[in-house]
Amino acid sequence: MSMSDGRTSDTKRGTERLVVIGGDAAGMSAASQARRLRKPGELEIVAFERGNFTSYSACGIPYWVSGDVPDRDQLIARSAEEHRARDIDLRMRTEVTEIDVPGGRVRARDLETGAESWTSYDKLVIATGARPIRPSLPGVDAPGVHGVQTLDDGQALLDTLATTEGRRAVVVGAGYIGVEMAEALIKRGYEVTVVNRSEEPMSTLDPDMGRLVHGAMEGLGITMVNDAEVTKLLTGDDGRVRAVATEDAEYPADVVVLGIGVRPEATLARAAGLPVGDHGGLLTDLAMRVRGHENIWAGGDCVEVLDLVSGQHRHIALGTHANKHGQVIGANAGGGYATFPGVVGTAVSKVCDLEIARTGLLEKDAHRAGLRFVSVTIESTNRAGYYPGAALMTVKMLAEQRTGRLLGVQIVGREGAAKRVDIAAVALTASMTVEQMTALDLGYAPPFSPVWDPVLVAARKAATAIREGAFR
Ligand SMILES: Cc1cc2nc3c(=O)[nH]c(=O)nc-3n(C[C@H](O)[C@H](O)[C@H](O)COP(=O)(O)OP(=O)(O)OC[C@H]3O[C@@H](n4cnc5c(N)ncnc54)[C@H](O)[C@@H]3O)c2cc1C
Repeated sequence: MSMSDGRTSDTKRGTERLVVIGGDAAGMSAASQARRLRKPGELEIVAFERGNFTSYSACGIPYWVSGDVPDRDQLIARSAEEHRARDIDLRMRTEVTEIDVPGGRVRARDLETGAESWTSYDKLVIATGARPIRPSLPGVDAPGVHGVQTLDDGQALLDTLATTEGRRAVVVGAGYIGVEMAEALIKRGYEVTVVNRSEEPMSTLDPDMGRLVHGAMEGLGITMVNDAEVTKLLTGDDGRVRAVATEDAEYPADVVVLGIGVRPEATLARAAGLPVGDHGGLLTDLAMRVRGHENIWAGGDCVEVLDLVSGQHRHIALGTHANKHGQVIGANAGGGYATFPGVVGTAVSKVCDLEIARTGLLEKDAHRAGLRFVSVTIESTNRAGYYPGAALMTVKMLAEQRTGRLLGVQIVGREGAAKRVDIAAVALTASMTVEQMTALDLGYAPPFSPVWDPVLVAARKAATAIREGAFR
C-alpha cells in the first residue's frame, strides 16, 4: 500500500504503523524483531531501502572479492521477498528524502519512476548507516576507482578486475577495510601497494602494534607507504585511473580501492532537527530512542555509542553493534523493553593468516580521557611451544595506574589471536582489575594455548607493573 497524502495511519483502525528508513543490518533487525512481537493486524511495518539489496553482509565483501566466498548471494541473509513474506512492506529502490517530525510522516522517492509520496508513521526507526569518505581529489571519480561499501560497489570492483588487463592495485587507507582489501587483491594475484596517512597501518591499534601488521603485510609482498597523503589520482588518455599521487611519489595503478573510513549518514535526521553529537551521529538513550523523541529510534552506523571504558561518546561503524541495536529497537518499538548499555570497543580482522584484535582504549584514548595507566607488552605463543604449529602472539595490555582496572588489550598473532580478545572484552565489561584477571579459569590444553594463556601472562605483567608503581 502506498500512502501519498500524509493521512494518519489510523485509517486502519487499531493498527499502528512503524516506518523504518534503511533496509540493512539495523533497520531490518528492528523490523523483524518488531514483527516477532506484534502481529500484522496490530502493527503495520513499512521499510524503505534506496539500494538494490537488503539484509546483506558488507563484512563479507572482502572475502567475496578475494574469491573465498564464491557467490554474492551467500552474503544476503534475507531477501526482500523473504521479508515481505513475513508481513514487512519493504520498498526497495525507494529513498526517504525528508522526515517531517511534527507531522509524523516521511517523504519518499521511488528511484525507478521518480514518483514522490508521503507516508505517515506512529513509530519511526532511522537506520541509515554510514557514508564512505570520498575525498574531493582530482581523478577520484575516474573509472577504475572503487569504494567497497555496498554489494553494488563489490560487483563494480569485480567487473573492473575481470575486464582490466593490468595487475597493479593501490589501496588507499590502511584501516581494517583497506587491510582486508589488500589481502583480497593479493589473493587474486595483484601487485598491491597500500598508501596510508597514518604512521602505521591499523590506526585502531597503537603504532607499536600496527608495526607488527606492517611487517606482516610486507612479508606478503604488499608495498606499504605510511605517513603519506594522497594528493590526486592520475588518469590516462582513456580517462581511466593510471596512478595514485602523493606529495613525494606516484604509484602506478590499474585499479584503486578506497578504504578511508566512514561518517554517520545523519543528513535527513539533522535536517529534521533531531539531535546529533560531536562525531556526527544521532544521539539516543539506552533504549536506542532518539533523545527527546518518544516515538523515534535510531541505531547502527548512523548513531554514536557510549564507550563504557572511557565514559565518552564515539562513532564506531560495526555490524555487530548494528544488529544488536536493531534487536533492541525492534523490542521497544514492538511494545517490549530492551536496552543497549554501550560498547567496550572490540574489533577483529585479519590479513592472510595474521589476526588483529583490539578492545578498550588505546594509549591515545587513555591520555585523551585523562587516565594514568601502565602499558605492558608480552610475547607468547598461540599453542604450547612444543605443539606443532605453535606461532608467536603479541599481547599489549593497558591498566589504570591507581586502581589496576583493565583499560584495553591489543593482540596481533596467528591462529587464535583474534577471538582471544573476547576474554578481555568480558573483563572490561565486568570492570575487572588486571590482578583479578590473573586468576581467570581459562581453558588449557597444548593444542590451544600454553599453560599460561598469553592474556594471563599480560595480566600478570600488568599487575606487577601496577604493584611496582610504574606508570606514565
Ligand atoms: C567492506 C566492509 C567490511 C566490513 N567488515 C565488518 C566486520 O568484519 N565486522 C563488523 O562488525 N562490521 C563490519 N563492517 C561494518 C558493517 O557492515 C556495518 O557496520 C553495518 O552494515 C551497519 O549496518 P547499518 O544497518 O547501520 O547500516 P548499513 O548497512 O549501511 O545500512 C544502511 C542502509 O540504509 C540505506 N539508506 C540510507 N539512507 C537512506 C534513505 N534516505 N532512504 C532509504 N534508504 C536509505 C542504505 O542504502 C543502506 O542499505 C564492514 C563494512 C564494510 C563496508
